[in-house]
Formats: sequence, C-alpha cells, structure tokens
Amino acid sequence: MDYYSHRSTAQLTTDLEVLKQIEGSIRRQKLESIAELQRRRVWRDDGAKDMAQWVAARCDESRWRSRRWVDAAQAIEGLPEIRRALSRGALSLDKVCELTRFATPETEVGLVAWARGVSLGTVKKRADEATVDPIEEVKADDDARSLQWWYEDNRRLHLEGFLPADQGATVVKALERLADKLPSDPDAERAYTLDARRADALVALSSQAIADDPDSARARVNLHVDLAALTARSGSGALESGGIVHPEVASLLCCDSIVQSVIHGDGGHTVGIGRASRNVPEWLHRQLRLRDGGCTFPGCHHKRYVKAHHIWWWEWGGPTNLDNLVYVCEFHHKLIHVHGWRVELGKRAGVVYWFKPNYEPYEPNRAPPETPGRDGLTGSIEQRELVGAQPHASG
Ligand SMILES: [Zn+2]
Ligand SMILES: [Zn+2]
Repeated sequence: MDYYSHRSTAQLTTDLEVLKQIEGSIRRQKLESIAELQRRRVWRDDGAKDMAQWVAARCDESRWRSRRWVDAAQAIEGLPEIRRALSRGALSLDKVCELTRFATPETEVGLVAWARGVSLGTVKKRADEATVDPIEEVKADDDARSLQWWYEDNRRLHLEGFLPADQGATVVKALERLADKLPSDPDAERAYTLDARRADALVALSSQAIADDPDSARARVNLHVDLAALTARSGSGALESGGIVHPEVASLLCCDSIVQSVIHGDGGHTVGIGRASRNVPEWLHRQLRLRDGGCTFPGCHHKRYVKAHHIWWWEWGGPTNLDNLVYVCEFHHKLIHVHGWRVELGKRAGVVYWFKPNYEPYEPNRAPPETPGRDGLTGSIEQRELVGAQPHASG
C-alpha cells in the first residue's frame, strides 16, 4: 500500500495507462486462446455442451458473456484492426465483443474510430440493429413472459413481470398515455412523481376494465367491513383477494360501484351486500352526467373514470339521490376520503364547491386574472354557475 502513496499523481496516471495496455494485451491473448481451444474441440472431453458452456465453467462467467467471447474470438481472426485496438487498450473487451458482431474487414477501420468515441450502449444498439437473433431466443423470451403479484404485510401489493419487448411496448404506451391525461394535485407540496402517476394509470385502466365488464356480478372487488367499526373508524376492511384497508379507504371504496362491500353487523353476521340503494342506478347516472358532465373538481372535467361520490357519506346514512351525489374522478375522490377535502352542492343546480382540509374554499380562479376575459378560466365556480343556470342542467 505504501508503494502507491509515495507515487505522484502523474506517475499513477501513467501506471494506469500501462496497465490498460497490459490488460488489453491479456484480453487479446485470452480470445486467441479460446479460438485455438475451440478448434481443438476441447469442450467435448470435459462433458460440456459447447464451447460457451466450457468457457463459462472455466472462467466462472455467465453463459451469455461466454457466448460473446467465443463469437468474438472467432470473428477477431479476420479483423486485424479491431484486434490491434484491443491489444493496445484502445477498445474495451465489451466494445470489441459488440463490434465483432457486425464489423467486416472493409468496415472495421472506420468502426474502430467510431466506437472509441461513443458509449458501449451505443455500440451494442448498433450491433443489435445490424444482426438478427436466432428465432429460438425470441421464442424463449415469449415463453418466459410472466406477471406475478403478492401482498406484503397485507397492505401493499407488489407487481413483478417480464414481457418480450414488443408486448412490453404496448403496456408502456398505454400507461404513459393515461398517466399524461390523469389530473394533477392542486397542492404543490404533494406533487406526484412520474412513477406515482404510472401507478395511478394502471389502477384507472383496471377500474375501467371492470366497469366495462358485462358480467357485473363477477367483475367486482369484494370488501368486507364491519358497519359499526367503519362508522367509528375503529376497524379495517378486508379485501377478499387479500389485503387490509384503512377505514378511510374503506369509506372511499363504499362510493365505488366496482367494489362490493359486504357489511357485517353485531357478532359478524352479514347485514347486507352494500346498502340496497348505494349503487347508483343508470337513470341517476344519466342525470349526474347531464348536471356535472365529468369530475366537478375545478379545472378537471374528467369524463372517464368518474365515481358518484356521496356528499353526506353513505356509511353515515347519506342517501343515494341527485342532491347527495357528485361526480368525481378517481384522483379527486381520494382527495375527499383520504386527504380531508370536502365538497358541497351550491343552491343553484350544477354548482359545486370544493373545500381544502383547512375548510378554506378552493377557488383557483378567484384571484384577479392577469389577462382580461373569462374564456380561459374553465372550471371556475363562476363558469360552473353559468353552466348550471342553463335549463338542461337543472335535472
Ligand atoms: Zn366518495
Ligand atoms: Zn378530477
């Protein structure tokens, strides 16, 4: 250790340069040895399936990397420029392995200069594009596709999966498009990350799939709650698929038409499956659609993924009628049940007021506008009153 501490920075830098060249030279010799051993079919005597398997066992390397070494060892014999670049440490072994996948004696001079100036990822991408994987590998990827989930601690669902690139691209595109469209939180201090919005997108996509399912009896999320515990916020709800939900969340789910709440009374016996009037019938939905259009949160207007929220909460006896229901999207529904926001219907039909957890009215467009004219202030309470005053909306 003392040897290094006594050397100057310039000396150590030179040392590193020399070591890099020695390393390059060793790697070139390693590839040349592999090529010669392969010609002698050495793997057959050692019970290996092929040369890559033999190298993997001898060098304690992965099958994948060993396969690359064996292929590069063969290719490099006809590519003197790449061979030289490897031995003088000008190109790493990884870059050489990628380059030899597509370089030819005619192109190698230009490719060496190019590869020195770009990242390994760039070289690999060009190699991937210039070559075609064996169809067996494509089939193996397809066979390995999977999606698994499990509850951790009864509170969190973990998802883990693997998809071939083309199928994965479909999933990624759908989630990205939806994450872009989902509404955002007005509270700056709780700005959601892109990851959180993708998670919301997956939930929204799944809710819509359940809502669109013609077999509504089977396409339901079942939640078991104790009515007394729910109203007193003293007990949790249990999801039939596994998982426990906090009473505030259970209350949120009671507004949800895709969740069927199985209500238990004293002694645990079933009081009923939801309250008969809880699920909003289609004729009432039509009136809500006419009155609210979409989510009533100022500026949101989402039309898909909306729920009919019970203003006077359902579990406290709130009725399922037009005066007690308001359309909210999944995101703004959570604001009410979980984050303490409140919503009220105004005296005039269609007017909806939102209040922050500190009881302050949320009127994002009440501040004096910087530009004159109200056309741009969609979603303001003023605008809602105008809409509400139109005859068709007074359902
Ligand atoms: Zn609700
Ligand atoms: Zn909304």
